[in-house]
Amino acid sequence: MNSQEIWEAVLAEIKLNLSKANFLTWFKDTTLLEVKDEVAIISVPSNFVKEWLEKKYHKTILNLLNKLSPEIKNVQYVISSSKKPLLKTAQKVKTFLPSNDQMLIQTTINPETNLNLKYTFENFVVGSNNELAHAAALAVTENLGKKYNPLFIYGGVGLGKTHLLQAIGNKVNKENPKAVIRYASCEKFTEELVEAIRNQTMSSFKKKFRQLDLLLIDDVQFLAGKEKSQEELFHTFNNLYEKNKQIVFTSDRPPKAISSIEERLRSRFEGGMIADISYPDFETRLAILKTKTQIAGQDINEDILRYIAENIPKNVRELEGALNRIIAETHLKQAPLSLEETKKVLSSLLTKNNRYISAQEVIKKVASFYDLDEKLILSHSRKKELVKPRQVVMYLLREEFKYSFTNIAEKLGHRDHTTVIYACQKVSEEVGQDPVFSQEITLIKDLLYNK
Ligand code: ADP
Ligand code: MG
Repeated sequence: MNSQEIWEAVLAEIKLNLSKANFLTWFKDTTLLEVKDEVAIISVPSNFVKEWLEKKYHKTILNLLNKLSPEIKNVQYVISSSKKPLLKTAQKVKTFLPSNDQMLIQTTINPETNLNLKYTFENFVVGSNNELAHAAALAVTENLGKKYNPLFIYGGVGLGKTHLLQAIGNKVNKENPKAVIRYASCEKFTEELVEAIRNQTMSSFKKKFRQLDLLLIDDVQFLAGKEKSQEELFHTFNNLYEKNKQIVFTSDRPPKAISSIEERLRSRFEGGMIADISYPDFETRLAILKTKTQIAGQDINEDILRYIAENIPKNVRELEGALNRIIAETHLKQAPLSLEETKKVLSSLLTKNNRYISAQEVIKKVASFYDLDEKLILSHSRKKELVKPRQVVMYLLREEFKYSFTNIAEKLGHRDHTTVIYACQKVSEEVGQDPVFSQEITLIKDLLYNK
């Protein structure tokens, strides 16, 4: 047997003992690269999968491998290198790439700027709901620090704020590689600040943010109540502004509606251009679906896209979620879906809010997905393998079932509600950046709604 055959045999065996969801999450995109000095080298797609396999499946994998090929005495997991080199060269990549490479680039974060390369103006669909914000964002890239400073973009969840914000950064970076750019979510900014205070590295923190040509701060509503961060941002802002450096903010609400924020910072937010993004109309939704199918390299019937655009009249993130479901089903079936099949798949998404699912049930399903005891999720342990599933529970209760932060805090063993806010923010960020994790969430939702 060659490596590939051995690994296929191992996978076949593992599949028998795992749920489909678990199997796909942990074993999809794994391969046996080689056997070297009695060690089988397994390539895995992410660090998260690596840690999980090491912790949870190592013995099983080793036993199976050893049974098939007795020379194998140990297993080592390596993260597939296909993504890594792209990190450094990503900036040089042209817009047109074979779809495989393009898929990889979509998840590439530039470590210097924190920008995700998948967010560009080219793949941002302009409609009446976002025309103004789009035009202002473009104008900013053409007159950096001169025209609209600061630019403040606001709008509801999943409507494209982060996309536009990062598109500004990516365009400036592409056209002027020397420009010093930094994208930071408000949480990240706060986190780095706290870290700097703790490690007494404030001067380098200040320097880092004050030498920028373009500062992009996402979700400033999370500054509410964080005095130290507000103060630091205020000074950073003034410093950059005086030097004609560009600043762009986003928020889920207009500056006036952000409570517990210092007046002087609010007036800075209001001092430049304010543009909002609202819900897309049908035509825009359809155009977005077409763009996304193209990016995914998929060929999906127009009738089906129209059906999705008509029936998922919510935010763009949910629209994308529905499309991804259809794409996933198409892959499973290995043939295009009929309109009837599409309706069936989407009906679970559409009716989900009508069915009552208790917090208890969510905890139970997440626990079973991660092979954990429910009690551990409710515990206060800070172990990494517990923190993540716990955050997923919080995220689902918030995003899917619209629980209040305080309510979630209570349901999860009386925690501080800011922990919940942080968890929800963190998970939704990661979902946007890590395709493996995003798939996990989809699978958990499947468990919730379909079983
Ligand atoms: P927000 O930051 O407002 O919550 P995001 O920018 O994260 O929303 O957008 C959610 C998803 O929807 C992203 O995957 C983004 O690419 C996509 N999206 C939103 N608006 C558009 C648009 N006009 N064209 C293409 N994709 C969009
Ligand atoms: Mg966002």
